[in-house]
Amino acid sequence: MSTLSAIQNRDIDHHLHPYTNAVKHRQIGPRVIERGEGIYVYDDQGRKYIEGMAGLWSVAVGFNERRLMDAAARQMEKLPYYHTFTHKTHTPSVELAEKLVQLTQGRMRAAFFTNSGSEANDTVIKMVWYYNNALGRSQKKKIIARNRGYHGVTVAAASLTGLAPNHRGFDLPLPQMKHVACPHFYREGKEGETQQDFATRMAEELETLILNEGPDTVAAFIGEPVMGAGGVIVPPETYWDKIQAVCRKYDVLVIADEVITGFGRLGTMFGSQKFGIEPDIMVLSKQITSSYLPLAAVLLGDKVHSAITRYSGELGTFGHGYTTSGHPVATAVALENIRIIEEKNLVENAARVGEVLQSSLRALSDHPLVGEVRGTGLIAAVELVADKAGRVPFDPLGKAGAAVYEAAHEHGLIVRGIQDSIAFCPPLIITEAEVKDMVGRFVDTLENVKPQLL
Ligand code: PMP
Repeated sequence: MSTLSAIQNRDIDHHLHPYTNAVKHRQIGPRVIERGEGIYVYDDQGRKYIEGMAGLWSVAVGFNERRLMDAAARQMEKLPYYHTFTHKTHTPSVELAEKLVQLTQGRMRAAFFTNSGSEANDTVIKMVWYYNNALGRSQKKKIIARNRGYHGVTVAAASLTGLAPNHRGFDLPLPQMKHVACPHFYREGKEGETQQDFATRMAEELETLILNEGPDTVAAFIGEPVMGAGGVIVPPETYWDKIQAVCRKYDVLVIADEVITGFGRLGTMFGSQKFGIEPDIMVLSKQITSSYLPLAAVLLGDKVHSAITRYSGELGTFGHGYTTSGHPVATAVALENIRIIEEKNLVENAARVGEVLQSSLRALSDHPLVGEVRGTGLIAAVELVADKAGRVPFDPLGKAGAAVYEAAHEHGLIVRGIQDSIAFCPPLIITEAEVKDMVGRFVDTLENVKPQLL
């Protein structure tokens, strides 16, 4: 403990951290990140790291974009705060709503703003319930999500999330939320099954669940186009077509949680475009402001929007919203951030440089520790295994992920260990040379930890 600095000790004393082992935190203390530049961040010891996760999958434009600081300052000076309740509005939130609808090429009709992805998904659940009440379908309320899906941590959103640590100790999930299998071919595919067979089986499982629950009780299906926090799972070919067909058959809304995949991550503006998803509702956050300020948006297609607006008009008011829904500074920063993404062609960059990321990681497929390399665009994961031929995981699960996460810092690299999968999700501004540097640091890290893992 004596080796910890004053700031580390003050942190330990009074700061309870999200997603942190509180007991271990007291022993090792936090790493204090002090400043950022491009794809790099620096700690208070002056050490420089490639931020291979763009923070939390979220910083598109890098860690010192002056234009976002200026946009925030300009809006702060003009109108630092105002709300959007009771028939009030301000220009940045109007312009952003309009811009988001335009980016979906008119497929979506309107935006509702929240501060975080979790709040956005809670809002979605309430809207789905409200929508079915508007249509007089008071039984149609269950929502289906997937194992290993991630949709946030508030009570209802955490119930959609399909990860045990988000339920354990919290008395969750709520009973209206159901889960189907994770579409991870490497882990869940059966001997002799093709990707397409596997996708068919996943869709059949969904249909069976809907039929068992009763179609008149199932309101919506929610999924990330590519799963992020659950381990970067790219669905098998034809998966989304088959899932959507089942949803349409039973009048089940399709919700695309694009909190990670929105704004270019997969090399298309939205993940839905890449997989032919035609959502009734879309959820956006993270890269919307490059996370310089908290903001999320729920985009509603015409069907849900028109039912909700009509019903709320009849009821008198729509009883939902946050003090800072559509915050003027956050929405002004989002507009500038999206302008930068467009002007610098960062979506195209994600597609082009993403190819380099995918091929450089796939080149590691023969490494004795590497079980699977997966990803698309500028998001990827390398799953490490104890025995390659048998796809045998480490015991305990997560041992390799934790070792690589820790050791990578010594090589000036920040990655994420998800169980034993190492995730990469760098800022969209990353160059080809920087991708190669990042992968090189990862290879050095693997060599470093190999003796303790094999
Ligand atoms: N949905 C997805 C797909 C996410 O990745 C996340 C955050 N990792 C969330 C929702 C929740 O967002 P927040 O942490 O802002 O509540």
